[in-house]
Amino acid sequence: MQVEKNKVIGISYRLKADNGETGMQPWEEVPETAPFLFLVGTDSVFPKFEEALIGKSIGDEFSVFIDFDNAYGDYYEERKTVIPKSNFKQQGTEKREPLKVGKVVPMQDEKGNQIKGEIIKINYLGVHMDFNPPLAGYDLSFEGKIISIRDAEPEEITHGHVHGLGGQNH
Ligand SMILES: [Zn+2]
Repeated sequence: MQVEKNKVIGISYRLKADNGETGMQPWEEVPETAPFLFLVGTDSVFPKFEEALIGKSIGDEFSVFIDFDNAYGDYYEERKTVIPKSNFKQQGTEKREPLKVGKVVPMQDEKGNQIKGEIIKINYLGVHMDFNPPLAGYDLSFEGKIISIRDAEPEEITHGHVHGLGGQNH
């Protein structure tokens, strides 16, 4: 069986990232014992990444370099913004967690899309947030291995994602 459209594949990998100043630095490791699963052909991963895996079999290794433009895009200074503290008080009351630097908060943009922002500073002006993806502006380098390949269930294909262990439970 090979990696192709409508297969659910499991991969292990080591991701390194380079913002152009630091050189390639370790960022994330997904071990063989807990592979990352995705449904091929659903834009679950970067197209360049998927392209590099097509046609591979279980046990095959891969090594993929993706420049920032084909990964999370550039870093935009204007995606940093200051939000009044009072805006955070609207949702919930007792269960509200305290605002803390480093916390990632899901919010909505003007179009109603969910976006995540990281709190980078809190002061008298309000809560300073960065809505850039954590790896914006980074070139990525993946080294990994194909751990599993199976046919996707018709329902998974309809939903466009993996069900069961390592996927959606619903
Ligand atoms: Zn589903």
